[in-house]
Amino acid sequence: MINRYTVIGQPVAHSMSPAIHHLFGELTQRRVLYTRSEATPENFSDTVLQWQKNGGQGCNITLPFKQLALKICDRLSPSAQLAQAVNTIHMHRDGNLVGHNTDGSGLCTDLEINQRFAIAGQHVLLLGAGGAARGALGPLLEKRPALVHIANRSADRAKALAASFAGFGTTTGGGYDTLDTAQAFDLVINATSLSLQGEIPPLPEHVFAAGAVSYDMMYGKDDTSFMSWSRTQGVGRVCGGFGMLVEQAADAFFIWEGARPKTRMVFTRLHDLIGRSYA
Ligand code: NDP
Repeated sequence: MINRYTVIGQPVAHSMSPAIHHLFGELTQRRVLYTRSEATPENFSDTVLQWQKNGGQGCNITLPFKQLALKICDRLSPSAQLAQAVNTIHMHRDGNLVGHNTDGSGLCTDLEINQRFAIAGQHVLLLGAGGAARGALGPLLEKRPALVHIANRSADRAKALAASFAGFGTTTGGGYDTLDTAQAFDLVINATSLSLQGEIPPLPEHVFAAGAVSYDMMYGKDDTSFMSWSRTQGVGRVCGGFGMLVEQAADAFFIWEGARPKTRMVFTRLHDLIGRSYA
């Protein structure tokens, strides 16, 4: 029997998820078929339900449907509940759709295992307060950093995000001006969409502490604008989000198949596809 999965988004034509999940299947000796499904806001629910009706065991949800997916799930895991977004749906045998969110756990695994950066006790700066930042915040706070400060163009959004996670750890939020008087950070994560336009958030020069790690959730064959800028600031460890993509996929695969592939092998095998070495 072959288990069938898909990624639903708009656009999805360039998604690397099929290549990643087919490699996972090979590495764990499971027969999986993983495809891409383009949807619109109007037909998103029907696309998910049709996939289930046609025998699919699960799907990943990507931009711009992660919040919409919350509403069609019968049950939510604590990760999806916390993130208020779903990136993985498991279609249970009893017909229930169970929503999970593996983006934040994928980020933390990439940081702690692949990059060997222990988050506990560190001062973390999270740039952006959109879906990706929200998904990352809970899993980051679970690692017990000294502080997660959120800086965002819309200061109120950053403040509200920090306030909604107040019970989970020390977190503060505000506009980029809050960084003028802030201390330097050990880890700076770019969860804005600015790298898509080749731009960077307005950051002061003293933002990185000595030995800090810079992490852009976006990734590509070349350094993103945020990665390039970080290097000009003298940061030695500069990471793109490809590791997060692979690790969140591995967590989704585990939810569906009960086996977690060794991602190091995946990085090696995907080297040609992404045009750079990793981890
Ligand atoms: P959202 O659209 O939800 O949020 C976008 C964020 O960027 C907001 O904080 C927004 O600020 C900020 N922003 C947008 N334009 C500007 C601007 N001109 N100046 C300053 N800030 C700006 O996107 P997501 O959170 O879903 O995604 C963010 C990034 O994370 C994307 O690059 C995405 O590719 C990446 N990502 C990577 C993943 C991976 O596996 N590697 C997984 C998920 C996301 P404001 O609130 O003020 O509008």
